[in-house]
Amino acid sequence: MPRYFIWTIGCQMNKAESQQIASYLDSVGYQAANSFFHADLVVLNTCVVRQSAENRVLGTLGLLKGLKNKHPNLQILVTGCLVNSDTQELKRRFPYVDLLFKSGDYPELSAWGQKQGIPVEQRLLRYAGNNSWIASSPYALIPVIQGCDNFCSYCIVPYRRGREVSRRREEILYEVEELVRRGIKEVTLLGQNVDSYGHDLPGHPGLADLLSELSSIDDLARIRFLTNHPKDISLRLIEAIASINKVCEHLELPVQAGDDDILRAMRRGYTVEQYRELVHTIRRKVPQISLSTDIIVGFPGETEEQFEYSLSLVKEMGFDVVHVAAYSPRPGTIAWREYQDNIPAEVKKERLHKIEELQAAIAGEINSQLQGREVEVLVEGSKGGKWFGRTRSNKLVFFEDAGDWLGQLARVKIEKTSPWSLGGEVKK
Ligand code: SAM
Ligand code: SF4
Repeated sequence: MPRYFIWTIGCQMNKAESQQIASYLDSVGYQAANSFFHADLVVLNTCVVRQSAENRVLGTLGLLKGLKNKHPNLQILVTGCLVNSDTQELKRRFPYVDLLFKSGDYPELSAWGQKQGIPVEQRLLRYAGNNSWIASSPYALIPVIQGCDNFCSYCIVPYRRGREVSRRREEILYEVEELVRRGIKEVTLLGQNVDSYGHDLPGHPGLADLLSELSSIDDLARIRFLTNHPKDISLRLIEAIASINKVCEHLELPVQAGDDDILRAMRRGYTVEQYRELVHTIRRKVPQISLSTDIIVGFPGETEEQFEYSLSLVKEMGFDVVHVAAYSPRPGTIAWREYQDNIPAEVKKERLHKIEELQAAIAGEINSQLQGREVEVLVEGSKGGKWFGRTRSNKLVFFEDAGDWLGQLARVKIEKTSPWSLGGEVKK
């Protein structure tokens, strides 16, 4: 049996797409290998959101070039945000790559497969075949809208993933029903901007409609979604989180900066005050909400004072999680064209550490409030003799027990807390 290995970096969307590719390969007779070195076919699912990610991709392509020299029959496929519409230049730079296909372009993948004598899979790719990944996972990532129409000035995603295209509701429902039949208990609906879901579909259904329909699937226990955009999230959606029991109390709501001039230069479409009001509304409607955010430090021209505003916003909002990144100019974006990347790397690093340090203290404090409380955990796996899984609020919990908890909803009494995870005892 030929073997495949998929190397993935980047966002949840990339992870979801790698799962789809794995399902396709499973269904056409391939078997998963555990490294490049044992594979006949390698897929690189790439991210170029920041230079550091792009460097990792280029390093891995270099490694594969060496492998292909030794094993000329090795097939190398590349997808993800490295691949743009015009593949000519990439083909010139990486002539040893057998196929470059845009994110989610499965017709291109299966057309290539057909040329290699691999049968075409007619069904939706995700749940075709053996689904090696389903066997080990109680949750699934479901892309519901592809692309992004926002063009934030720093971001390469709209150039690589194209304009927004929603998947039909019936297709999503059918897919989730099938996954639940196979034992999946939780789904995360994915989009670069999930709030745009449905605007391009007949009747313009919203994400709230989709949540309501999915919640009627009997054995589905939890529904999540990400990422929301502060300028687009609707009151209806906030009310859906409050009223639909299966929808988890967790939102990813990237703010990106705590200063209005920087937000304007980023083309985010809201002010700090609007973001603040939005968070107040959410907390009023869903008091137990857990909030994650993203912040970019060192955007062109960011002064010390403007950075301090990001820091004080983090303090004020009490986020559960903050993903902080140093600004990285991306060729072709508006910020790359219009602004000079004039904040020195050491200053960016220093600002990044300041936010991380502050957030560790805040998350430590928030998590310590769970001490002694009982939480529901969907068990995802075991590591170092401990079971682990997530609460509805997306907190990572570890516990020890001799039983088989994989895929179970466990009640865990929290005994230990840290900024990054919780530990406790399972109730039986
Ligand atoms: N759609 C989401 C949003 O509206 O924020 C997130 C998608 S984006 C690919 C993921 C995160 O990467 C962003 O929230 C941002 O913080 C970060 N990011 C994107 N472009 C970046 C850049 N050029 N430099 C540094 N960080 C960047
Ligand atoms: Fe990038 Fe902005 Fe779209 Fe998010 S909303 S993917 S940051 S352009």
